[in-house]
Amino acid sequence: MRSNPSDYEMIAPGNLPAIVSLLAAEPGVWLPIAGGTDVMVLYAAGKLPARKLVSIWNLPELRRVEVTADEIRIGAGCTYSDLRAHDLIGREFPLLSSAASWTGGIANQNRGTLGGNIVNASPAADSLPALLVYDAQVTAVSVRGERRLRYAGFHTGYKKTLLAPDELIRSVCLPWRFSGYFSHARKVGARNAQAISKVCIAALGRVAQGVVEDIRIAMGSVAPVPLRLAETERLVKGRAIDSDLLLLAAKTAAGEIRPLDDIRSTARYRATVTGNLVVEFLTRLKSEHGVLARWNALPVDEAIKEILPCCGSHAWARGMVARRPFAGEASLLASSNEVCRSLTRSDWMEAFQSHPRIGESRRPQSAARSAAWSAQEQKNVGDAADAVKMELASANREYEKRFGRIFIVCATSKSAAEILDILRQRLTNDDETEFHQAAEQQRQITGIRLRKWLKHEVYLDSYS
Ligand SMILES: Cc1cc2nc3c(=O)[nH]c(=O)nc-3n(C[C@H](O)[C@H](O)[C@H](O)COP(=O)(O)OP(=O)(O)OC[C@H]3O[C@@H](n4cnc5c(N)ncnc54)[C@H](O)[C@@H]3O)c2cc1C
Repeated sequence: MRSNPSDYEMIAPGNLPAIVSLLAAEPGVWLPIAGGTDVMVLYAAGKLPARKLVSIWNLPELRRVEVTADEIRIGAGCTYSDLRAHDLIGREFPLLSSAASWTGGIANQNRGTLGGNIVNASPAADSLPALLVYDAQVTAVSVRGERRLRYAGFHTGYKKTLLAPDELIRSVCLPWRFSGYFSHARKVGARNAQAISKVCIAALGRVAQGVVEDIRIAMGSVAPVPLRLAETERLVKGRAIDSDLLLLAAKTAAGEIRPLDDIRSTARYRATVTGNLVVEFLTRLKSEHGVLARWNALPVDEAIKEILPCCGSHAWARGMVARRPFAGEASLLASSNEVCRSLTRSDWMEAFQSHPRIGESRRPQSAARSAAWSAQEQKNVGDAADAVKMELASANREYEKRFGRIFIVCATSKSAAEILDILRQRLTNDDETEFHQAAEQQRQITGIRLRKWLKHEVYLDSYS
């Protein structure tokens, strides 16, 4: 049955002391509403039990991110967009950034909050496995003051939490101690955006002298609450990752979850996917650890030389090297984005000049080191009909005449005809707009190249 708005009352006192006093005066009567992305779904379905709502949206006390020597304190009212935009969170807690990036769509990310995700207590909530592996603590606030609780154990059963009816979550605290760990996150759902997870994983690991020194794996949608895979962790810790261990880890992981059949998936599917996700994590831990461990330890000049072709700008390469050590893809990409935001126009120009022209096999001498990637990225152009190639060459010349630089587009997975359309459309831009679009394309290309580098798809040394 649909809800009738006149049956509801909503107030917005606008400050934390007034709100906790209200909650204390009538515990359980007033329901806090933050972004409302869960509350309004219940309201629309006529299933919202509370009739009195108190808005905690955009309270300054809940929207801060504080950095201390031991931890980062993320306000419970921070939205997913806030989390995604925060450089330090992206670099040091990439599992949380990843979860934020695949929660709902952009509109949902602008409203949905971390605190709301925790208190809504869905076993499928995307940010919660990350909080488990980062050993998060939550601070709860009421008229009695503040208390800290370990996030592990905060959810006591399906949709049940340790929060008292007169308490709010104020912040979520993540310790720095997992800083150097390799991290891996994956959501398996019907599609990337606007889909609830069938299964999701957040995992951290550290390898030393060829064996897994520490490992933390958490899964969502596989039990009434987000789950740490304690048995699988015990099995893997202290051992070298080989095919026997992968098989055993998959079996152990599938055996320790408590999945259900529901409208999104079956228990059997969830068990199989859980095993596969654990194998994927351990395989990446082994291979990417190898690439990064070696690069992290290289002298500065050699490290710059090796990573330079991913972008082409020396300022970018220096920025990346200064941010070492990296533990995995997520923190590497977050840092690349951060460095990209600091680049000047001349840095971008240097990066643009490292590419051959789209559709041209002949390349300038300066572009030699990124040629292998460009060849892969522009594969579809090479395969295109001669007429399209000629049109591309002509549009490229027009572009260079108009803007005084070569045309940059992230060509991966695009056909020659699509690239030609984009090129023609961008020829209508003014110089400033066009420069920003080219830089954004270059940022995307850099991310794709970094991923390839980690996967050993191109050995940079062979181009020096
Ligand atoms: C279209 C759509 C797509 C979605 N996709 C995803 C998805 O992919 N992954 C996912 O995990 N979730 C998803 N969600 C669910 C939702 O967006 C998240 O759970 C979000 O984090 C909820 O935050 P909110 O601020 O909107 O919470 P609200 O709806 O405001 O509140 C939710 C609950 O938390 C309580 N609450 C909120 N903040 C606090 C606080 N600080 N202290 C105490 N109690 C508090 C409220 O009283 C309420 O009980 C989706 C929702 C929609 C509508």
